[in-house]
Amino acid sequence: MSTELDNSANENAKVDKNERHKQRQQKVKQQVDAKIEAAQIEKGVLMVITGNGKGKSTAGFGTVTRAVGHGQKAAVVQFIKGGWECGERNLLEKNGVDFHVMGTGFTWETQDREKDTAATLEAWQAAEKLLQDESINLVLLDELTYMVTYKYLDLQRVIDALNKRPAMQHVIITGRACHRDIIELADTVSEVQPTKHAFNAGVKAQLGFDY
Ligand code: ATP
Ligand code: MG
Repeated sequence: MSTELDNSANENAKVDKNERHKQRQQKVKQQVDAKIEAAQIEKGVLMVITGNGKGKSTAGFGTVTRAVGHGQKAAVVQFIKGGWECGERNLLEKNGVDFHVMGTGFTWETQDREKDTAATLEAWQAAEKLLQDESINLVLLDELTYMVTYKYLDLQRVIDALNKRPAMQHVIITGRACHRDIIELADTVSEVQPTKHAFNAGVKAQLGFDY
């Protein structure tokens, strides 16, 4: 008898729990629906992905892939050419994505300010063209932040080009220590924090995972 009572009490508690869960979720749904309803603006979004953690360029390329998957046109300008080939480039170029890669390596490798400045300007001119092209839905300016930090590129020139771009064009800027004026101008800013990185435990950068 007492087992039967226990069972029925357990059953009631379960129903109560389910009912409370349902009510809570209904409330969440109402709040989410209201926010979705309130967000009606359509515009080209300027996104900055900065910080010292791993994943900035990966997220930029992921968004390029997303756009291409919807049949949209995307282009990439890479402001630092690493010593490694870029896995994403191999794939995305085959899918119609324009790539412009700066002709020099890392600034601490070239150690030549004049050469770096000239290479930066050339890459930036390609970026400016893309930022005037209405047919391009998404422009990824990978590692642009350093060009402003090192003063290879004039900040105001960057801001002007971003401001004048087609109204529906999305732009993603990646790189550490993004200038605060660009952060201010951006609509979406994510800062990736390095909670841990395998490199610090002696793991080398690996093909297909790090580049
Ligand atoms: P990824 O290209 O992997 O998304 P990222 O764009 O966030 O990285 P960058 O600062 O552009 O990072 O660095 C490029 C390279 O340095 C990548 O191979 C990445 O794995 C490595 N890296 C990124 N963050 C760190 C870190 N905190 N410590 C050591 N190496 C890092
Ligand atoms: Mg990067």
